[in-house]
Amino acid sequence: MERKTKNIQGYNVDILTFQEAVTYTMLKLSKQEGMHIITLNPEIIELANKKSEYADIIKKADLVVADGTGIKLALRLKGVKQERIAGIDLAKELMKVSSKMHYTVALVGAKENVVQSAKRKLKIDIPKVRICYTHNGYFSIPKSEEIVEELEEAEPDIVLVALGAPKQDIFIDKCRKKLPHSVFIGVGGSFDVWAGEVKRAPKLIRAIGCEWIYRTIKQPKRMKRIYKTLPTFLFKAIIDSVKDRPQKN
Ligand code: UDP
Repeated sequence: MERKTKNIQGYNVDILTFQEAVTYTMLKLSKQEGMHIITLNPEIIELANKKSEYADIIKKADLVVADGTGIKLALRLKGVKQERIAGIDLAKELMKVSSKMHYTVALVGAKENVVQSAKRKLKIDIPKVRICYTHNGYFSIPKSEEIVEELEEAEPDIVLVALGAPKQDIFIDKCRKKLPHSVFIGVGGSFDVWAGEVKRAPKLIRAIGCEWIYRTIKQPKRMKRIYKTLPTFLFKAIIDSVKDRPQKN
């Protein structure tokens, strides 16, 4: 399957449906090719613009999905209709589909009680899921080396990393050299949702692209991140779309 991408402010975003993202990943899993899936949002782009190490990681990722309504909007301004692919939904669907084929999953991130509770709840939701490894997300750099070794031993097919951006993708990048056959995906606050600590926006709010507003109201500390990144991102998106327009002679 060829990747079809569109460039948004220097970063290639995959143009595909949710189902295609699942199929593409399952294909990679079956071939043991390993992947790093980035769930892109405007905040990640702004972080990457300030940290070249992060920008490089995004540029070499195997799949960059349009999480975040801002990315969907920036693509729309460039004439591309792309559905939002939320990391939390993609990760859950991958667990559902892969559980039927006995693939194994590792969970790394969030507080210890949260990751344990997420594991329990996932097992109820997806009875066949095989969670072979868990670790909380509060560890030092030396400890991270140990976690990579433990992951190497556990040999998970899928690794969900919930450390928030950019930590999760930097950690994934480090792991990939040792676990080249695993599929990694950074899933932000997903474990908190699966554990029942944080509620997701109702479906209708998600459908109209306003989950981020809901999350900001529920967790006001997010406000700082949003107002620091969103206006710059939108401004650049408009400039970018004007530059991208075909010239009339
Ligand atoms: N987290 C972690 N280690 C850290 C910092 C954060 O495990 O050093 C976890 C935190 O407990 C939460 C997740 O990372 O579960 C970050 O969630 P956030 O809502 O910030 O991510 P988003 O969904 O916005 O990407």
